[in-house]
Amino acid sequence: MTKNITSQRAMELEDKYGAHNYHPLPIVLSRGEGAYVWDVERKRYFDFLSAYSAINQGHCHPKIVGALVDQSRTLTLTSRAFYNDSLGVYEKYITEYFGYDKVLPMNTGAEGVETALKLCRKWAYEKKGIPENEAKIIVCENNFHGRTITVISISTDPDARNNFGPYTPGFITIPYNDTDALEKALEDPNVAGFLVEPIQGEAGVFVPDNGYISKAYEMCKAKNVLFIADEVQTGIARTGKLLACNHEKVRPDMLILGKALSGGIYPISAVLADDEIMLCIKPGEHGSTFGGNPVAAKVAIAALEVVKDENLAERAEKLGNIFRDEINKIDSDMIELVRGKGLLNAIIIKPTNGKEAWDVCIKMAENGLLAKPTHGHIIRFAPPLIISEGQLMEAIEIIKNSILSFN
Ligand code: PLP
Repeated sequence: MTKNITSQRAMELEDKYGAHNYHPLPIVLSRGEGAYVWDVERKRYFDFLSAYSAINQGHCHPKIVGALVDQSRTLTLTSRAFYNDSLGVYEKYITEYFGYDKVLPMNTGAEGVETALKLCRKWAYEKKGIPENEAKIIVCENNFHGRTITVISISTDPDARNNFGPYTPGFITIPYNDTDALEKALEDPNVAGFLVEPIQGEAGVFVPDNGYISKAYEMCKAKNVLFIADEVQTGIARTGKLLACNHEKVRPDMLILGKALSGGIYPISAVLADDEIMLCIKPGEHGSTFGGNPVAAKVAIAALEVVKDENLAERAEKLGNIFRDEINKIDSDMIELVRGKGLLNAIIIKPTNGKEAWDVCIKMAENGLLAKPTHGHIIRFAPPLIISEGQLMEAIEIIKNSILSFN
């Protein structure tokens, strides 16, 4: 039945039978390879969203798909009630890759964030000596860490929060990119952690000032507060380094990864930390049926190998510079600002002749490139990192022509 489905029919089905919790562009995709996706009518597009940076390694990377297929034929899920022969190998690989003592494997990014928050609270009571139920964690305005009850409790976005209360207590919200506010918040002796995105992706690729991350890290260190980096979107080569924190030579006390940890092939997330923190959690205190399953273990190793083998961080750095340079050359009043790092970029769109970011995205789709507005007036541009320089130049031409068509 799905073989011959039209775009119209596919959209009608989603509309009628699916919850209306997303507002997709009217494009129905049925295939992906590398930097491209195709719709059901076989029209080809550059994918400049990459599933919110999950597809860093490109669509259907053969090595990662191979790992998925091989392991799926052998052993898929044991639960953690037993050992399996893939998990330990993956744990050794990922901890050495990122330089931590231990990893706690989960599935989605939000679960990774929840895990880090739980670990932080445990550490607060068992190591830092904060009185029971008094621990606080500092978070930033305009953050995006996912959609669970606790995670939306720390959101400042009304769409994420409205009518989902009551909210989880124990958090202090401060402005992002504001070390004075952080200093003040850190005066509270019951603060256990600071959760931060090194670049705020969903907020519209908001890049903090140079030095913010390293200064914030040092301030946390001085107060024995855990620096927790949510690199679910910025991590794994997206911003031109393996981790966005690497730009400022910061090694977070806890590192949260997701998305590209599987190259977009499987939901895989992870929290990395050293023993002093990770061993606070004992058997039975946290877990997930699927977390650390053999398929995930094999897929994540393959996905991380691709990042190194294909020099994706270096590619992102080089191509990101080209992208921003070329976009800056476009002569249009609609482009208010281009910002980003590596291949995580955004254009701030100034509404012109009644046309907004959504219209630009529709026009780009017509011209063969997919991107999505965030917060109305911002368009994020995050192609797969395997995109070639020639493909990138072609894509920039599409972006340019689409924007200029509104002049
Ligand atoms: N953290 C960050 C920084 C994210 O960008 C996202 C998703 O966009 C998440 C967490 C949540 O990840 P997931 O949608 O896999 O739960």
